[in-house]
Amino acid sequence: MNKQQATRLVKTLAREAGFLHVGISEATYIGDSYRRKLDAWLNAGRHGRMSYLENHKEKRLNPALLVPGARSIISFAYNYYTTRKPLHRDAPKVASYAYGKDYHYVIKDKLRQLLEALRERIGPIEGRYFVDSAPVLERQWAARSGLGWQGKNTLLIHPKYGSYVFLAELIVDLPLLADQPIKDYCGRCRRCIDACPTGAIAQEGYLLDGSKCISYATIELKHKHPIPDVFQGKMEQWVFGCDICQEVCPWNRFSTPHQEPAFHPQGDFLSWTTEDWYEMVKPTFKQQFKGTPVERAGFKGLRRNIVFLQ
Ligand code: SF4
Ligand code: SF4
Repeated sequence: MNKQQATRLVKTLAREAGFLHVGISEATYIGDSYRRKLDAWLNAGRHGRMSYLENHKEKRLNPALLVPGARSIISFAYNYYTTRKPLHRDAPKVASYAYGKDYHYVIKDKLRQLLEALRERIGPIEGRYFVDSAPVLERQWAARSGLGWQGKNTLLIHPKYGSYVFLAELIVDLPLLADQPIKDYCGRCRRCIDACPTGAIAQEGYLLDGSKCISYATIELKHKHPIPDVFQGKMEQWVFGCDICQEVCPWNRFSTPHQEPAFHPQGDFLSWTTEDWYEMVKPTFKQQFKGTPVERAGFKGLRRNIVFLQ
């Protein structure tokens, strides 16, 4: 099978697996200019307590260190957009990506099957798949492969699909045809910058101070640490993640709801009142959030976030 045929097969199988979009980039060292950007971000402490982001730096910059003989990075986008919102406007809110089953498992399953299907059709392929995995600079690779541009809110945005997508990668030793990056369509818009309640996005955009972001404070900050005072009065009812910089982005007006049953909420927390949230006990937490990304915060972490709103 030649390069063109293999590329076509990858894209057909990805679409059949339900991915919204797939793009390919050459698996090479990402370049010194990105290395300098990453160093500056880490040195400024913008990763807060997420020390895992300091690890595996060389692997993050060079995919060949992750997969020996790597030739291509296949980037995937999987839709999680939903129109479902909390019933009570003032009730605590969970970011929509976390409503249903943990996407890491759902998407890894799809990528494992896809890699198996490629091996059956093409022959032995050395490859590894990643979903939101620290050693891979997934937004940069996705942007290089034309899956979207990195907006001022730093998320990957596609003019047709918006930004409510999970990103994943398959790094393989298979030579494939690379796609081209697309243009940045943020233009003069600055809605995300102005709407961010904590000022986490730099005034000129394209740079996020992770330590100021509500997602960081409610998810990454472990329950034994109190939420810093600077967040007081700025949470806008978010208790796990935050969707504000996506809700205001005009490119999300074209998003269409996902068709993935696993991403629907397993419980009824979207209809809870504020009192229901405050009264939540551990068994209720498990019944509502077991197997979802919210489980990562743990009962104590979610309780801390809810109490912080008072
Ligand atoms: S997720 Fe929320 S807090 Fe974080 S940058 Fe976006 S709007 Fe700001
Ligand atoms: S809200 Fe505007 S500036 Fe922010 S990412 Fe979307 S288009 Fe870009």
